[in-house]
Amino acid sequence: MTLQLGANKTNWKTATRLVRGGLNRSNFEETSEALFLTSGFVYGSPQEAEDAFKGESDRFIYSRIANPTVSMFEDRLALLEGARFCVGTSSGMAAMFAAIVSQAKAGDRIVASRALFGSCNYILTEHLPRYGIQTVLVDGTDLDQWQQALAEPAVCVFMETPSNPTLEVIDIAAVSDLAHAAGARVIVDNVFATPLLQRPLTMGADIVIYSATKHIDGQGRTMGGAILFNDESYLSDCLDPFFRHTGPSLSPFNAWVLLKGLETMKLRVDQHCENALTVARFLSTQKSIKKVLYPGLASHPQHQLAMRQMGRGGSMVAFEMAGGQPAAFQFLETLDLIDISNNLGDTKTLTTHPTTTTQQSMSEEERLRLGITPGLVRLSVGLEDVDDITQDLQQALRRLCGNC
Ligand SMILES: *Cc1c(COP(=O)(O)O)cnc(C)c1O
Repeated sequence: MTLQLGANKTNWKTATRLVRGGLNRSNFEETSEALFLTSGFVYGSPQEAEDAFKGESDRFIYSRIANPTVSMFEDRLALLEGARFCVGTSSGMAAMFAAIVSQAKAGDRIVASRALFGSCNYILTEHLPRYGIQTVLVDGTDLDQWQQALAEPAVCVFMETPSNPTLEVIDIAAVSDLAHAAGARVIVDNVFATPLLQRPLTMGADIVIYSATKHIDGQGRTMGGAILFNDESYLSDCLDPFFRHTGPSLSPFNAWVLLKGLETMKLRVDQHCENALTVARFLSTQKSIKKVLYPGLASHPQHQLAMRQMGRGGSMVAFEMAGGQPAAFQFLETLDLIDISNNLGDTKTLTTHPTTTTQQSMSEEERLRLGITPGLVRLSVGLEDVDDITQDLQQALRRLCGNC
């Protein structure tokens, strides 16, 4: 499941880590990473099998537990994140669920920021309470609320920064200090920032999770996820036993696709950020748009913090149409190049209306509290020529507001 990384490789620069990290060639000396599409592995003798099951030999046993292609992906991502351990999972939600459930038990408390991906919200507020695990939700940008909620012990703290879809930015270091005083492990869902812009483990977080479906694949092909951390006891006491027996494993084929995704991720994320900033600036000049939310704009409420934690604004932009939901729907319908889709971090520019899709299951009151108004539109800025992206936005906005 995890390998210790060679010391020489930690001197590699980011781009080199992405291309060569974790490469483990077979005896055929192939250039590209081999795809080990196998569920099992064979033993030369019953004694070898017995030793493997006792954990006395370091070898592959069964792909639910570990697989050579999956291990290459885990090692490459661990090297990028600067983490000792990485566990690949079948999806981002499998990573989030395993990271939490593997360490929580009945009677435990979790403290989480309120601005959450819809399925993370479901797990914390509807599913885990069935097992007697309660979550207290706070406004992630308000340190006083974190402090109050963490005045009592908690098993873990969960946050998404920047958050979906309103791009709130949370102070990872400050919340980690409060969480550690309460005995909690800090889990950061780092999907929007990617490991290229933000490395939560260096800011005090204990566990980072990804939906690899997003920028790591980044080409709309496959599902995947990952859990990264440094604490060996979390692996041995919590995650490893949970993972090997419950099986949220990443398939070798998907791991191979994700390995190839990592090779180009730096080029893609750099360009995503550049295009998104141009698009955010363009949208800010439009009369039919009330408000643009982008961490890379000085107008963002946590712009300074975002620049400190991420350096750049990322690939996601949200904005509120002055004409509410009818304007948002008409705008989406009028787009020509940009697709309507709830995925994100893709090469293709994608847009979604959170109120009626990703955040539909929330109550209206909760949505409005988070700033998810009926006029809010979320844009995942892709890798098309940025002039074509802004032209498409412009023609749709023009049709919407006539001559304004
Ligand atoms: C997509 C997403 C997830 C879930 O990942 P899947 O791969 O779709 O299961 C979790 N958190 C955030 C912030 C996401 O964007």
